[in-house]
Amino acid sequence: MSSLHAQKERSTLVASAKILVVEDEGLIALDIENHLHELGYQVAGVAETGDDAIQLALDSEPDLVLMDIRLKGNMDGIEAAASITSQFDVPIIFLTAFADQQTLDRAKLVSPFGYILKPFDTVDLRTNIEISLQKHRSEQKVKQQKTWLNTILESIGDAVVATDQHGSVTYMNRVAESITQWQTTDALGKDVSEVLPLVTGQAKDVLENPLIQVLRDQTGVVLPENTYLINKNRQEIPIDDSAVPIVDDQNQHHGAVIVFRDITERLAVNQQLFRHAYYDSLTDLPNRELFIDRLQHLLDLNKRYTVHPFAVLFVDLDRFKMVNDSLGHPVGDQLLITTAQRLQQCLRPSDTVARFGGDEFAILLEQVGDIDCACMLAERINTELGAPYHLGNYDLFNSASIGIVQGHPRYELADELIRDADIAMYQAKTNGKGCYAVFDEAMHTQVKGQLTLENDLRRAITDQQLTLHYQPIVSLSTQEIVGFEALTRWSHPNLGNIPPGMFIPIAEETGLIVKLDWWAMRQACEQLRVWKDQLPSDKTLAVSVNLSSRHFNRSDVVQRVTQMLVETGLAATDLKIEVTESALIENPESAAQILSELKALGIRIHIDDFGTGYSSLSYLHKYEIDTLKIDRSFIQYLDCNADRLEIVRTIVVLAHTLKMGAIAEGIETAEQLAAVKSLGCEYGQGYYFYRPLTCEQVDALVQEQAFWVDPQPESDTQPPGEEI
Ligand code: C2E
Ligand code: MG
Ligand code: MG
Repeated sequence: MSSLHAQKERSTLVASAKILVVEDEGLIALDIENHLHELGYQVAGVAETGDDAIQLALDSEPDLVLMDIRLKGNMDGIEAAASITSQFDVPIIFLTAFADQQTLDRAKLVSPFGYILKPFDTVDLRTNIEISLQKHRSEQKVKQQKTWLNTILESIGDAVVATDQHGSVTYMNRVAESITQWQTTDALGKDVSEVLPLVTGQAKDVLENPLIQVLRDQTGVVLPENTYLINKNRQEIPIDDSAVPIVDDQNQHHGAVIVFRDITERLAVNQQLFRHAYYDSLTDLPNRELFIDRLQHLLDLNKRYTVHPFAVLFVDLDRFKMVNDSLGHPVGDQLLITTAQRLQQCLRPSDTVARFGGDEFAILLEQVGDIDCACMLAERINTELGAPYHLGNYDLFNSASIGIVQGHPRYELADELIRDADIAMYQAKTNGKGCYAVFDEAMHTQVKGQLTLENDLRRAITDQQLTLHYQPIVSLSTQEIVGFEALTRWSHPNLGNIPPGMFIPIAEETGLIVKLDWWAMRQACEQLRVWKDQLPSDKTLAVSVNLSSRHFNRSDVVQRVTQMLVETGLAATDLKIEVTESALIENPESAAQILSELKALGIRIHIDDFGTGYSSLSYLHKYEIDTLKIDRSFIQYLDCNADRLEIVRTIVVLAHTLKMGAIAEGIETAEQLAAVKSLGCEYGQGYYFYRPLTCEQVDALVQEQAFWVDPQPESDTQPPGEEI
């Protein structure tokens, strides 16, 4: 072989592999060594005995061992090869003179990569070495891939179970062992249905094992929702995920693999989220969303199938706010929790009771054909709620106003039903505490009318349909008019005059009152400016304006009033503001703040309709109040009711004790006038003197400076002012 040719040969060899030669015949060993060098290999060493071979192999870590079978010493080549390969992964080629069956059989047991008979041929030797090195390298690659795959399968958080094409378990990772409670060693070779028994659904029906399905249909399978694995300890574990066939690149199926995970925690989180979204955390009842959902579902069912008769009850507690405000929120919360329990006790399991928020509850009664059943339930609820509540140190009593509405094909949306139940509940409330009312068409018409009125009122403010009337306030000692109360009037384009008793509550409810009050205040201030300009400067004349409780949660009141006075050129003492007791009770802190700032400006504060607000007298001194306006209801029967006289006397004494003045509202007769006068009341207002006057009527008084009223008008003459 030319050296150039040998070099070329060498360059195609696997880069200078290191070969250990085990040969006890010195000459043969030398010959082999020479051949190897010639072929371009390195010789890691030459060993004569089995023990040396093992030691040299471990020390030099050769790429291949050429092993003679018969060796010096008491260990032959086959034993040495077995020992080496058990400690170190190296390919062995036997190079021997023996080819008898027994030696061959023994040699096979150590899985040699080649077997060459002496005397050998160089080409044969080289071919054997090259093929062995290549094969060993491929095997190592496969082993590495297997280790890599195994590491991944063991480290992922999901369980993996594989089977052969007959459904016998061939592999399971650690997570699978932990979920199934099977040891891989026990599971291997077992039918997968035994290792992974699955059930599904509420009824926990046995589910055909997805791996068996995959093997049969040769396609992937996704686990159905609500799949549970029954592990070896008979525990049910919710799992999800999918199974697929194992297919090679020739499209041959070799089995199936399933990947799954324990979703117990995820289900718990989902459940918690669901409860959070659809249940009230205080009472543990379904909330408004869930109630509406169930009701809508029932309405939709009724649309498609025969009608299931049902009714909705809207329950509003009568005294919750009082308890909450006076005894504090913890007691209020307990009251709600106990109420929720009592409501549940009144119902069948198929009915739904939900908390709508605050002190409102709704009940969905299914399968009630007869409205009487719903009415009976309403009565029962009030009997249950009427039993004393023992909350902390208190014994409380409660009742509810209940609106009832019966399911009807005209309802398409749950909200429509709730709306009507709510309307009926309001009707029940106006009938008195602890009542129920069934929704009917008349209520619907009334509410529709109210809605129309609400829209009309919005327009009335901008379309100048509102005017002010002025009712004189008279000094009872001098009979002189000292001011006027500005009262709003609405002339509706189609309905004519709408009484304040009708539109003021709508304005209050919708918040329109804020706009309305500012309009009235500006109008009244501008008008007073005009009148004052026509009068001598020493004539005191003030205007009283009503201010709704709605202003007391706003921050701009004082600034707007100040601006109004500046713009109309009035002094602060020319303006009086009337607020009701309830306004002070609803927003005690902000009301105190706003009133003291107004008072600081010099504006006088009147408490309107005093005596009707159920307020505690102890609050009065906390506010900057100048005058109590004694409600008309106390003045009305003064002449014939001794109790009323005592009440009015008490109010006047209270006012004077607190350094306040008193105005008697609604004086209609000379007797009433005489009575309030005798009690020391300073001012009066009422039809006996004047009805509310139009602007023109006051103009006339101003022109004539006719501010003194006749204390004893003719009994048959109409008092001046608006017609009733
Ligand atoms: P109020 O502030 O207590 O006004 C006195 C009410 O008593 C007026 O009713 C007046 O017409 C009536 N009245 C006065 N003297 C007598 C009498 O001798 N006998 C009888 N039977 N009634 C008498 P009106 O004008 O119907 O107003 C009712 C309520 O509407 C007012 O009660 C006030 O609370 C409210 N209101 C009226 N205008 C406004 C306004 O511009 N803003 C606000 N927030 N409320 C207003
Ligand atoms: Mg008033
Ligand atoms: Mg009043």
